Amino acid sequence: MRTFATFLLLLFFGLPAFTQNIKISDHVFLSPINEHTYIHVSFHEFEGFGRVASNGLLVIKNGKALLVDTPADEPTTIELYDYITSELNAQVTTLIIGHYHADCMAGMPYLQGKGVETISGSKTSSICKNTGKAQSQRKFKKALNFDFEGSKVNCRYLGGGHTEDNIVVYLPEEKILFGAVWLKVWHHKIWAIPKMQI
Ligand SMILES: [Zn+2]
Repeated sequence: MRTFATFLLLLFFGLPAFTQNIKISDHVFLSPINEHTYIHVSFHEFEGFGRVASNGLLVIKNGKALLVDTPADEPTTIELYDYITSELNAQVTTLIIGHYHADCMAGMPYLQGKGVETISGSKTSSICKNTGKAQSQRKFKKALNFDFEGSKVNCRYLGGGHTEDNIVVYLPEEKILFGAVWLKVWHHKIWAIPKMQI
């Protein structure tokens, strides 16, 4: 876990200027990080907040897709899912849920219906259970490491941050860390790439 501390974090407030974004619809687009990893950015009208952007990760390898978080509503999740399957020719096999908010898991029931394996921290799962929401099939307390098409995926619960249950996901080969933070006026998820100056 010490590895995490070695990476500088780049706060994600908007569109990365150094990538060519792929527009899927007016509600969702992909921002490539490298040839098989993207940030998915989507927009949802939240009562009292207006149109808010949220983001997640998409990794594609050997025709299989891993998602970290879904867009904040089901129709946008379907747009993203359909694009991955028909345009990127990949089967979505795995979804990791970062925390219990809608912008991580509103699309989870839809993806479960498509046979996608869903993973979350056990704290997220208990919150969902107590509030009558759908739960992930697989859960972990502190750490979960697994292989996705030959690449390591490390999930960690390091204690509360943006929410009491939020986890971080680290892709060691890609050196990408994805998590969530609370900022004073703006709460959002973050992604990180090493050796990048803030
Ligand atoms: Zn949140």
